[in-house]
Amino acid sequence: MTRKYNFCAGPAALPEAVLETARNEMLDWHGSGLSIMEMSHRSPEIVGIAERAEADLRQLLSISDDYAVLFLQGGASTQFSAVPLNLLGGKTSADYVNTGQWSKKAIAEAKRYGGVNVVASSEDTNFSTIPAFDSWQLDKDAAYLHYTPNETIGGVEYFWTPKVDVPLVADMSSTILSRPIDVSEFGVIYAGAQKNIGPAGLTLVIVRKDLLGRAADICPAMLNWQVAADNDSMYNTPPTYALYLAGLVFDWLKAQGGLEAMEAINRRKAGKLYAAIDGSDFYANPVELASRSLMNVPFTLADDSLDKAFLAEADEAGLLNLKGHRSVGGMRASIYNAVGEDAVDALIAFMHDFEQRHG
Ligand code: PMP
Repeated sequence: MTRKYNFCAGPAALPEAVLETARNEMLDWHGSGLSIMEMSHRSPEIVGIAERAEADLRQLLSISDDYAVLFLQGGASTQFSAVPLNLLGGKTSADYVNTGQWSKKAIAEAKRYGGVNVVASSEDTNFSTIPAFDSWQLDKDAAYLHYTPNETIGGVEYFWTPKVDVPLVADMSSTILSRPIDVSEFGVIYAGAQKNIGPAGLTLVIVRKDLLGRAADICPAMLNWQVAADNDSMYNTPPTYALYLAGLVFDWLKAQGGLEAMEAINRRKAGKLYAAIDGSDFYANPVELASRSLMNVPFTLADDSLDKAFLAEADEAGLLNLKGHRSVGGMRASIYNAVGEDAVDALIAFMHDFEQRHG
């Protein structure tokens, strides 16, 4: 068996050690005689796995008891609806920052439930920048401010946290666990699991407890964070196997030295790749220097008629899923936690070689 390098934006690479453990435990988890997938979510085994996953995540992100940690379903996209349904309360509108395709989707969904005030947009730079904070047209009566700390498609990341007087809501799908964050700066953090947490099918919500209990009457029980918190994320059958795998990923992260260690590795990986792109006239990345994502690195070839050959030859070399999102074209290397420095080195070597042959 040869495992290849996977630069997919999500579902993304998982740590090989996690997959091996899952394989070893597949048929008989810890002598129970059952697979995790076959167990009741009310069993002590699964409740224990869920409790341990939560405790490990709390430790990795230093999450205080002021916050509820919820393991839900429906992906980050479902939270685009859950956020306004849970947080608008008596307010008529919420503030949103538009820095890319995922911001736009969150905005479109929020408009179904209330007013949306777009405080700033980088659409005029084709989403290659982040509007300066002092230009944001904030509404002091907003129910909350929503932003996307890492735009997975555009490869644009905030390296600062907006300071606002209303609850701050962040879609951290493609940045969570890539480096330490100060959870206390946020009202709500949410993320689909399929990048840095685990497999698709699990959705993480971290919500400050004082923000619970404001859900609209029409909020479905399945989207109501209070209901999830009251039921330890087991109001209905949770995605037990995905939760188990996430728990293994959290163990793996702790064994790597936690998020400080991951940040050092991730900065080194991204630094090398951007240096390779910037050091050549053959490749280019459009994002302003201060906002270049550590996790998603889009790049174009000077001659886009070579795109097809690049992808085919990369595939051949065992470098998979480098095609850029269909909305922007070009290439994109997603280099999440489980994508090792060896993968980035292999990609850079391939890029040099391709340039030699086609440049
Ligand atoms: N937000 C961001 C930043 C994303 O990258 C994605 C998925 N790529 C989503 C939201 C949507 O996530 P899901 O597919 O889990 O609904």
